[in-house]
Amino acid sequence: MQDFPVTRTQHPKPRVADDKLRFGDVFTDHMFVMDYTPEHGWHDGRIVPYAPFTMDPACCVLHYAQAVFDGLKAFRDERGQIRLFRPDQHAARLNRSCEALCIPPLDQAVVEASFAALVGVDAGWVPARRGTSIYVRPTVIATDVFLGVHPSAGYRYYVILCPVSAYYKEGLAPVRILATDEHVRAVPGGLGSAKTAANYAASLYAAKDAAARGYAQVLWLDGKRGEFLEEVGSMNVMLRLGDTVVTPPLGGTILDGITRRSAIQLLRDWGVTVEERPVSIHEVMQAHADGTLTEMWGTGTAVVISPIGELGFRDARMVINGGATGELTRRLYEAIAAIQYGATNDAHGWMRPVRALEAVDA
Ligand SMILES: *Cc1c(COP(=O)(O)O)cnc(C)c1O
Repeated sequence: MQDFPVTRTQHPKPRVADDKLRFGDVFTDHMFVMDYTPEHGWHDGRIVPYAPFTMDPACCVLHYAQAVFDGLKAFRDERGQIRLFRPDQHAARLNRSCEALCIPPLDQAVVEASFAALVGVDAGWVPARRGTSIYVRPTVIATDVFLGVHPSAGYRYYVILCPVSAYYKEGLAPVRILATDEHVRAVPGGLGSAKTAANYAASLYAAKDAAARGYAQVLWLDGKRGEFLEEVGSMNVMLRLGDTVVTPPLGGTILDGITRRSAIQLLRDWGVTVEERPVSIHEVMQAHADGTLTEMWGTGTAVVISPIGELGFRDARMVINGGATGELTRRLYEAIAAIQYGATNDAHGWMRPVRALEAVDA
């Protein structure tokens, strides 16, 4: 594995107790940083104390959002070993996002090594309580100082870490979601399949609208006809229709979720038929009326599996499985968690061990 120079912090922060953790508000002692210039390519990968960046107010990323990110987790298993969940897949996706935003690609091996090295340096921050983890956030931003609209010449790649709690403190809690054809997240030919800041900015207004009507998330419909399901909030979506699981296909407007891929693999391992095909809101309403829509859930790194207990669309309110978590939803959640916490055989080789690094400066 690649070694990076490490500058240790002189001011370690106080740790937050495992049972006091939330999501995304506590950061560890160090970060990984690497820069790009046209002359030197990606260079100078290093681990340094976590600290603010100094930015020129005209820095182009602040104006035109040429930025991508990803998100993955590291877990501590029962024997204390720390392991990352599918870092290779996340590194590959970061590069696909870079391509969509005209950002020069990174060496995938260096990206994977950056995750492992940083988690290794901050290994003492990886919580142990079941359900907790370290959330790893790699980000790439454009760094040139100019107000013209064209790709930046310089970039910065950095990785920060947050210890996070179990998303569900008291077991899986179904959410209410609102399908909307008034707002769109992405359109064909746009940025929908990239993990980019701009998509999140574009989702805020609809989310606020849904929240004002008492819903936790937006179910995005396609931007062309306002008819086909795309994603739920910032998760992929799956439905159980009879004995089949249906999920919208990857077609450029939705994010190729690693949790989505993992859920599809496990379902197929169990002999469940999974169809990746367009599914319209009308088909969903009909299936609800017929009683064949028995479960619906979202998939994503933060929550893993998020059961959906109620779906609103215009004047309709559809309660799914009596508003309770379905059997397959729960089985998927438990199966993925068991792999992540090392409680079961990792048949597909998804977990990658991290070596804890002793506190000796490079
Ligand atoms: C990150 C993300 C997902 C989920 O992807 P995972 O790899 O499963 O975390 C789904 N949709 C959007 C829009 C996302 O940004």
